[in-house]
Amino acid sequence: MQETLDSSHDFIRYEIRRDNETKRYDGVVHTRFPPEPNGYLHIGHAKSIVLNFGIARDFNGSCNLRFDDTNPSKEDVEYVDSIQEDIRWLGYTWNELHFASDYFEQLYQWALHLIDQGLAYVDELSPDQIREYRGTPTEPGRDSPWRNRPVAENRDMFVRMRNGDFIDGHCILRAKIDMAHPNINMRDPALYRIRHAHHHRTGDSWCIYPTYDFTHGQSDALEGITHSICTLEFENHRPLYEWLLAHIPVPHTPRQIEFARLNLTWTVMSKRKLLRLVQEGLVDGWDDPRMPTISGMRRRGYTPEGIREFCRRIGVSKTNSTVDLALLEFAQREDLNARARRFMGVVDPVKLTITNWPAGHVEWFDAPTSPDPTGTDVRPVPCTGTLWVEREDFVQDPPKKWFRLAPGKEVRLKFAYYVTCTDVVYDDSGALTEILCTYDPESRGGETPDQRKVKGTIHWVTREHGVPATFVLLEPLFTREDPEGTDVDDFTTLVNPDSARVSEGYIEPALAQLTTDETVQLLRIGYFCRDSKRDTSDRPVFNRTVTLKDSWARVVRNKRENE
Ligand code: ATP
Ligand code: MG
Repeated sequence: MQETLDSSHDFIRYEIRRDNETKRYDGVVHTRFPPEPNGYLHIGHAKSIVLNFGIARDFNGSCNLRFDDTNPSKEDVEYVDSIQEDIRWLGYTWNELHFASDYFEQLYQWALHLIDQGLAYVDELSPDQIREYRGTPTEPGRDSPWRNRPVAENRDMFVRMRNGDFIDGHCILRAKIDMAHPNINMRDPALYRIRHAHHHRTGDSWCIYPTYDFTHGQSDALEGITHSICTLEFENHRPLYEWLLAHIPVPHTPRQIEFARLNLTWTVMSKRKLLRLVQEGLVDGWDDPRMPTISGMRRRGYTPEGIREFCRRIGVSKTNSTVDLALLEFAQREDLNARARRFMGVVDPVKLTITNWPAGHVEWFDAPTSPDPTGTDVRPVPCTGTLWVEREDFVQDPPKKWFRLAPGKEVRLKFAYYVTCTDVVYDDSGALTEILCTYDPESRGGETPDQRKVKGTIHWVTREHGVPATFVLLEPLFTREDPEGTDVDDFTTLVNPDSARVSEGYIEPALAQLTTDETVQLLRIGYFCRDSKRDTSDRPVFNRTVTLKDSWARVVRNKRENE
């Protein structure tokens, strides 16, 4: 897909260019993507990935993948593995792979260094007291009674923390900065906590763990990161980031730059909430095709190209905002329209019988598969007198400008012949069971000797060759545009029970034989992708990746008008 928006002028790239001009880092550009392995990556992470890896590419630099694994209780190797798979699938390769836990020993030594400089102390106030002593944005905090412990005692206490002499929460190591600082993050922030927990990499070798603040900047420094790009909520942590780097003998001084995180309508984005959906069985795992996770989007049939293009289009800014989910779908639709191969399938089938078709006759058509009208790819499509067509392509009493099937109306069967509806059959309950038609043998390929105009074209599959298939028609997972709204007590009550409607239909044989996991277009009904997790040996299951048109934007509008 054409890369429409020029991302080379965002404010972060502007800053980097300036650093290069002033030779701040000798022209070196080294970024990193630092996920915590406590969940699967989501589309918000994709924004950060596209930004960090994109900058490395644009400036001939490099980008590391670093697992920020300092919180043992919530982390797991399952997440470490999925994160790597997702980044690769998005199309990126990291230069170096690191784990913050590899720096535990170095960080510990640097904590001792701060203690020796009189810049850190072990505090035995309770968590509640610490909170109380911290003050508020308008009131200064108070010094802890432990703040002026002698250096030797702090050292001894910290070593004992490491040795496991204390239970969780007994004490913490804090930086000694300024309890009256206007920025609360600078009021003697925590550097280490006691946590007797098993770590997925370091096992039981540690029972103290460094905080995010004490880990991040130093890890950046150790890896030679030049531009440490993070989301806006860390803007208030930047003075601390810089204070720590200034007071520790680090080999290099990186720079933190913040940008606004991505929020999407109809979606929750925090890993904590996504985990709840998984744990409470409200979705079929992290990769449920309705999830905003990378793995969910992959299973749904989204393309990495479409996701990257979406990330470029939304750009980067310094103000938080919410992006319309329709934009993500638009980017997918655009990419798939240009690339997806075309097939036919009937999602909600009803019988159509051609009464004048020669008995037993099968006719094969070479139907173009390529999206490009000049493309030469074709697949063989069989036609007979007994077909499945889409139920909604027939109405008994057509409104004006109805060009599809209705009594007496003539339509074109895509690739094949013109048919005219001569009769219809209903069952006792009044449901349509069969449409009877005659065909014009002279209309093969859609041309007749009399140049008759037929406006409607419908898709179809023969009853002899059609392969039964299940279609999952996906809608947004939530019933509200802002499931994280301030008036929402529990977002799980907003899960849409109809967000994965199942329909049983048929696909043409060439599609059933497809062995790739590509997303295809089913003519007139949308883009679909095989769900290999749900497929059974005799019945393929397809997720609808995205509709051909922005149909639910209309649904949403109607809903809004009714509210
Ligand atoms: P969550 O709040 O969803 O748990 P997180 O920020 O805790 O996310 P991390 O694993 O720490 O998740 O994130 C790794 C990187 O991805 C960080 O640099 C973070 O800033 C970035 N990131 C996370 N969520 C978003 C988002 N919604 N938009 C942009 N970047 C994001
Ligand atoms: Mg985080």
